[in-house]
Amino acid sequence: MYRIGQGFDIHKLVKGRKFILGGVEIKYKKGLLGHSDADALVHAIIDSMLGALNLGDIGCHFPDNNPEYKDIDSLILLKKTYNLVKEKGYVINNIDNTLMVQEPKMKDYIPLMKEKIATILEIDKDLISIKAKTMEEQDSVGKKKSVSVFTTVLLKRGNNYEN
Ligand SMILES: [Zn+2]
Repeated sequence: MYRIGQGFDIHKLVKGRKFILGGVEIKYKKGLLGHSDADALVHAIIDSMLGALNLGDIGCHFPDNNPEYKDIDSLILLKKTYNLVKEKGYVINNIDNTLMVQEPKMKDYIPLMKEKIATILEIDKDLISIKAKTMEEQDSVGKKKSVSVFTTVLLKRGNNYEN
């Protein structure tokens, strides 16, 4: 049995913050604003997995008014979410992500993002797709004021991987 889930996230790009995406620090003059490390890619993946299992959203599980999650490495939240997936008897079939970032270019960072996420999720990095687009200078992403991410995950029932 399969269950599909979608996730979306957006964070403001501001001065004086680190720019963390997919657990990787991006070299840039601005960073993402949020209660945690504001890793929009990891947050979108978390929401997609919660959605696939109908377990609510990231805000229910990791409230942004909880001091425990202040500036937390979002990969820790991803690990906690993945443990929920496993408790429910599911494993990850594959994940597809689209990063919406006007600048800088994401290409050189993507292989390391895949590795970081694959390590947390205990899967082969080939099961994680990360694509990147600009917004052609339109909307807040295109004006370099924010970064957003779309994710789709497919979970399958079982404990072991065929691939
Ligand atoms: Zn977020």
